[in-house]
Amino acid sequence: MSDYAVVLNAGSSSLKFCVYERPKADSWHLEARGQIEGIGTSPRFSARDGAGHSLADHTLSGTVRDARTALDALAEWLRSRYGGAHVLGVGHRVVHGGATFAGPTIVTPDVLEELRTLVPLAPLHQPHNLAAIDAVAERLAGVPQVACFDTSFHRGQPAVAAVVPLPREVCGSGVQRYGFHGLSYEYIASVLPQVAPEIAGGRVIVAHLGSGASLCALKNGRSIDSTLGFTALDGLCMGTRPGAVDPGVILYLFQSLGLSAKEVETILYKKSGLLGISGISNDMRDLLARPEPGARLAVDYFVYRAAKEIGALTAVLGGLDGLVFTAGIGENSAEIRRRICQASAWLGIDLDDAANLAKGPRISTEGSRVSAWMIPTNEELMIARHTGVLLGLIEART
Ligand code: ADP
Repeated sequence: MSDYAVVLNAGSSSLKFCVYERPKADSWHLEARGQIEGIGTSPRFSARDGAGHSLADHTLSGTVRDARTALDALAEWLRSRYGGAHVLGVGHRVVHGGATFAGPTIVTPDVLEELRTLVPLAPLHQPHNLAAIDAVAERLAGVPQVACFDTSFHRGQPAVAAVVPLPREVCGSGVQRYGFHGLSYEYIASVLPQVAPEIAGGRVIVAHLGSGASLCALKNGRSIDSTLGFTALDGLCMGTRPGAVDPGVILYLFQSLGLSAKEVETILYKKSGLLGISGISNDMRDLLARPEPGARLAVDYFVYRAAKEIGALTAVLGGLDGLVFTAGIGENSAEIRRRICQASAWLGIDLDDAANLAKGPRISTEGSRVSAWMIPTNEELMIARHTGVLLGLIEART
């Protein structure tokens, strides 16, 4: 095994990783992809090679209870498999880059301090992303680390898309719309010229539908608006987050129900969305299989909200050439793709049912005025590319 780069995506209960061989030109070879799930409860390690064959799948001891101990377990596996090879660098997914970080950044103590100030803006993700950076710094001192932000891709949006219409003195402290899932959108924009050349230079809406969900309006491959804003709470209905709600509801929670800031935060990040509406599950698979009215309403609202926001972003784009589905739900649920396309038929989307079931990539009929697509995302590859460019492992593409 030659030298390699590691990509980490650290969440509250999982640490996802990819191992890439030292890149030749700008092509990255995926050596292994895996995750440690159930951190803090029943940790399990699994990994596959680039061709999808299982390399490891076993439970871990209960001592794996946080990012640090998860990283220890990963480091042990990396040593046993790649012992002697050199770690060239570690690229991290970091959800919030705030107003300062408009692009991937080499991590220094000052950068880390600044990123910690953004924890309240992304309490579900940012602390875990940063804990992984800390853990690598402690264990692999001297290995360069790169932070890749979900917000960066949206930073060129027009002022009208980024503004938060509150008093200037409030917004001066960085209150603006940032947008998220940027690594996913950047990846999709990067492959459109090959996968869907007829729309790559046009007006495209990408629907990143996973546990977190958002839409991005792309014009000629650049983000001009998105449904997530200052935090990852806005826009579409998500697994446990509500998407857009009347801010008066939040005031009511404080003033009339007397809830604390922590309680409101927990409601907004962990108890709302599909889980809140259904009272059953935050997992779309479960909800699609359940007959209860709450499950039906949750799915109906998910589709309704997506279709409504597709209409809004079409107005922003001044028309639409293509709609792309990606992420967990977007890639795996033909039923949700069908329902969103059906609700968006008025725009000129004519779904090809067979192609939709066959997972595309094109899922609309030949004659469809607006084309629809299913394209798997690859945020890890995007992080690897940025890490390689920043660390001088490969040359930037012009
Ligand atoms: P994240 O990376 O934000 O955790 P993913 O993009 O992996 O999320 O998406 C996870 C979600 O995808 C799951 O919560 C589940 O609801 C949904 N999902 C995965 N497979 C299917 C499927 N076959 N049908 C419907 N939903 C699915």
